[in-house]
Amino acid sequence: MTAPRKTTQQTTRQTTRQTTQNTQKTAQRTTIAFIGLGIMGGPMAAHLVRAGHDVVGHNLSRLAVDVLVERGGRAATDTADAVREADVVITMVPDSPDVEGLVFGEEGILAHAKPGTLHLDCSTIRPDVARRIADAERERGIRPVDAPVSGGEPAAVEGTLSIMVGGEPDDVAAARPFLDVVGRTVVHVGPSGAGQTVKAANQLIVAGNIQLVAEALVFLEAHGVDTESALAVLGGGLAGSTVLERKGATMRARTFAPGFRIDLHHKDLGIVTASAREAGVAIPLGAHLAQLVGSLRAQGHGGLDHSALLLQVEQLSGRTR
Ligand code: NAD
Repeated sequence: MTAPRKTTQQTTRQTTRQTTQNTQKTAQRTTIAFIGLGIMGGPMAAHLVRAGHDVVGHNLSRLAVDVLVERGGRAATDTADAVREADVVITMVPDSPDVEGLVFGEEGILAHAKPGTLHLDCSTIRPDVARRIADAERERGIRPVDAPVSGGEPAAVEGTLSIMVGGEPDDVAAARPFLDVVGRTVVHVGPSGAGQTVKAANQLIVAGNIQLVAEALVFLEAHGVDTESALAVLGGGLAGSTVLERKGATMRARTFAPGFRIDLHHKDLGIVTASAREAGVAIPLGAHLAQLVGSLRAQGHGGLDHSALLLQVEQLSGRTR
């Protein structure tokens, strides 16, 4: 009697199980170079230490490295020192030129990482730069994965980030056990650069959502409505959102400590508008949002959380406090 043939679904499940087993093997006590230990990178690196990995950190300011060492990580003297012995390199720095410096610089990944090293770039950068980095790294035998994240500081601290992943399927499978430590929703969205394209869409939606929550709050206050009750009921209907849930209270209280800096969202909306133009797509609201965020930054508020878009709505409405 012939054995029943496996369905495609069974085969896929088995392959996934095997891949997970294989990658879990490599995920045990792996040496990870973590570069960029800021608001997001600091807590992400701490999760990897807690998961049992040997995490070697590097950051421009030494204080963040000291915090990692207190949590059980190790300190590197520079990027070359961090990546030399690493099996996995994770970068979490502000912008495209920062990641390019870490990859192409004299002290960087191409010059010092060993072939076979996985490079997970969790920073938010331009998709075209992510593709260029991926091509250069593959030529050197390094395995690039773009893995930008969403969820902000709270999700980084909780280890519940959403991670949009671009790269070759084998590299993404090898990266998954590490991404699973810091994220809850980890999705492979396509080839190199695709993660960054999805992240750009994420930033478009988040900026629009914050702007509308800000406008609604100022509108409600002008009508003398109790905004705590108003946000409670709005949160239960179609107007509800993670932005409303996570930022409603601090926006009501006018506390704008970052979180996610206006400077960074300005950078991201530059990526969104350039990528939309490149694809020939009209994003009228996105273009407007880019102007609003740029204006807030030009007024000296680049270091505030992006929920400070509220300040500008107040200003436009002649209702500054
Ligand atoms: P941050 O400014 O708090 O941290 C960046 C860190 O990188 C700093 O500590 C800085 O010293 C370090 N750094 C910069 N260049 C370096 C270099 N060459 N070598 C070593 N260290 C270097 O920024 P963040 O908020 O953690 O954001 C990091 C990335 O994550 C950005 O691309 C941002 O857009 C993205 N992001 C941030 C959030 C958020 O809520 N903060 C959410 C999602 C995605």
